[in-house]
Amino acid sequence: MAYIQFLGAAGTVTGSKHLINTGDPSGRSGLQVLIDCGLFQGQKDWRERNWHDTPIPAKEIDAVILTHAHLDHCGWIPRLVKEGFRGPIYATPPTIDLCGIILPDSGHLQEEDARFYNKTKKSKHDPALPLYTFEEAEKSLQYFKVAHVGDTVTLSPELSFRFVRAAHILGSCMVEISLRANEQNRRLLFTGDIGRVRDHKVAPGKVVHSGPEEGETADLVVMESTYGNRIHPKEDPLPELAELIKTTAQRGGSVVVPAFAIERTQKFIFILKHLMESGQIPRMPVFCDSPMAIKAVEIFLKHDEEYSEETREMIRRYGSPLEWPGFTFASTPEESKKINSVLSPVIIISSSGMVTGGRILHHLTQRLPEPKNLVLFIGFQAPGTRGFAIKSKADEVKIYGDFVPIRAQVAALEQFSDHADPPELLQWLHTFRNRPATTYLVHGEPDASGQLRDLMQRELEWKVQVAEYKEKVGV
Ligand SMILES: [Zn+2]
Repeated sequence: MAYIQFLGAAGTVTGSKHLINTGDPSGRSGLQVLIDCGLFQGQKDWRERNWHDTPIPAKEIDAVILTHAHLDHCGWIPRLVKEGFRGPIYATPPTIDLCGIILPDSGHLQEEDARFYNKTKKSKHDPALPLYTFEEAEKSLQYFKVAHVGDTVTLSPELSFRFVRAAHILGSCMVEISLRANEQNRRLLFTGDIGRVRDHKVAPGKVVHSGPEEGETADLVVMESTYGNRIHPKEDPLPELAELIKTTAQRGGSVVVPAFAIERTQKFIFILKHLMESGQIPRMPVFCDSPMAIKAVEIFLKHDEEYSEETREMIRRYGSPLEWPGFTFASTPEESKKINSVLSPVIIISSSGMVTGGRILHHLTQRLPEPKNLVLFIGFQAPGTRGFAIKSKADEVKIYGDFVPIRAQVAALEQFSDHADPPELLQWLHTFRNRPATTYLVHGEPDASGQLRDLMQRELEWKVQVAEYKEKVGV
């Protein structure tokens, strides 16, 4: 009996991992394919699941199909390989390029954290170990295999798949699966993360073209629900952004922006460039402090087939962001530390986006205690992360074992999201050519998934269920 088992991103937004087992009538286990292999982030009880083994041995998994290069979708791949997985990992060329920087960086961060905890003895684990190392992450890259958007890839006589565009980040895709199971042909759709609608005015600054693939057909859908209970503001965020930056600069403060190194950082620097060139904000130094930033920009420039018209126009007019005057990309720790001594108004964009690790920790330790500074969130903050605590205006936040007071101004602009909100999801779901027998909602906090389920049942009259962690459902 073929089934899907939800091994992550069920009841939470991180750790995406969905196992398809094609089964077979003889009772032997069939082909076993993982859709995404993400890292759990955020709350401790979820993060601890990164240390659990998969319910079936990693070496018995035949293949991984990867929707996109965000860590909550790809960050567990090195661990899967460490535990014995040796199959192909299918992804689009931009996703493979992005994983080539994001996974080794993740290994490096985990080694750094383990070293720090061992030095300060601030972990209850002795010794604290990395989930995987930089080297192990690099080794895992050899299993990646290109699958182009639109091409059909056959994994076995009973299972083939095709990537279609999700328009979430560079290279991101949904996965259409054709499955011969229980003597029936079944079509499954795994959405991964779903990007914004095609209207640029409500999704400003998209680097990649917007709008997920329309006109889908599926018997069963596994769909994300990150923004299931929130509607993105529809007004243009640029005037508010300009005002926030201007007033911070006027009082001599700095702007610190925690941002995902991939996509969000690129999107944000394009917007800053636009605001500066059009005189809406003063010219001030901009630092992109992420070891990945330069490589990520290079990957973006390489894959211009994915650009939105806005991005094409920006690059035509201003050239590569790496050469813009006043914009500095810090790659070494020394360059990063130098930013600490820049006192004049400055904009620092650094990762990780949810303040779970990385160089943003040092910038926030230095700049959070001062009221003249501004911490600006432009991305989703999962409960349990430091980013969530700061955004919720807590009095203090624990960074590297010490409590840092939060006295800086804290602001958040929700319009930069790369996830569709409920009206946008409905708009996309209305383009389906059929009504799927069942839709399972994943990748959402319980309230978000629950509200989206109710909305879909009411508006579309679809059968919708919220997936549970480790739940197995028949195909
Ligand atoms: Zn994503």
